[in-house]
Amino acid sequence: MSRTDVAAEECVSLGADGGVIEVYANREVNLGLLPVSRALPIRDRRMVGPWCFLDRFGPLSFTQQKPMDVAPHPHTGLQTVTWLLEGEVVHDDSLGCEAIARPGGVNVMTAGRGIAHAEQTPSDHTGKLNGIQLWVAMPDSSRNAEPSFESREHVPQVELPGGLVKVFAGALVGETAPTTHYSPLCAAEILIHAGQDCEIGLDPTFEHALLSLDGDSHFQGQPLEPRKLYYLGTHRSSATFRSLHGARLLIIGGPPFPERILMWWNFLARTPEEIAQFKDDWEREQRFGPVKAYSGPRLAAPELIRFARPNPLS
Ligand code: MN
Repeated sequence: MSRTDVAAEECVSLGADGGVIEVYANREVNLGLLPVSRALPIRDRRMVGPWCFLDRFGPLSFTQQKPMDVAPHPHTGLQTVTWLLEGEVVHDDSLGCEAIARPGGVNVMTAGRGIAHAEQTPSDHTGKLNGIQLWVAMPDSSRNAEPSFESREHVPQVELPGGLVKVFAGALVGETAPTTHYSPLCAAEILIHAGQDCEIGLDPTFEHALLSLDGDSHFQGQPLEPRKLYYLGTHRSSATFRSLHGARLLIIGGPPFPERILMWWNFLARTPEEIAQFKDDWEREQRFGPVKAYSGPRLAAPELIRFARPNPLS
């Protein structure tokens, strides 16, 4: 199978010089019944450090329905990071791990060589859902590691003049999140107090991006609009945010990822042959194992060749 036979997205972190602000509109997609605003990957396939996927869901309130119900599906070569602002999500995986994500805590699933999981709104819930899920590309040296799952109820919080930073992945503002990652990175929620400026220190070797989560915030005189990803490039040693009425922001970052990755469906790989193998393994119930805690059918992989080549005889 040649490289062009697989409609995978080839992703590479391009990096950029300091001072840039590039703005990318999110794409609206549906995860079953749940509308999601997808901030990564973006049109020109840029990653932000090792971060290669970012979904924003909610805020929404519900009474009867179960807005999140993602049936068992596989992952390879990545970590999922789930961070909630409101509500709850229950995770079940093929290792037999079950954990409820709640605001203030973080769930990290390391797919490594392969894992399957399901994510749902639990039966006992607050009727709210508001949060994000990110994927981290694992470097080639660790992407075939055994799968694992970590759930933490609390992450480090740092009070700064004008704001509060909750570090839920990697290291930022002198604090390190309590979960395992395989290359340098950072992810944090930044709360900016009303009428205040908040300055945070950044690693200038990282590239960074911002996503407004709620409220009004400004960066370098520019309002940060919802459903847009603001890519900041590298070579920044600090960033100052301002809010009139109070705001919450997401910041993610890491060194420009030095490897090219292939992303197809829920798999991260390096070659089309690997992707075909992972799809085959999922269909033959190899590699990933069942998610026993979920009742109902699992997700089927899409067709591998989405763009058929023209038949030269027709
Ligand atoms: Mn998943």
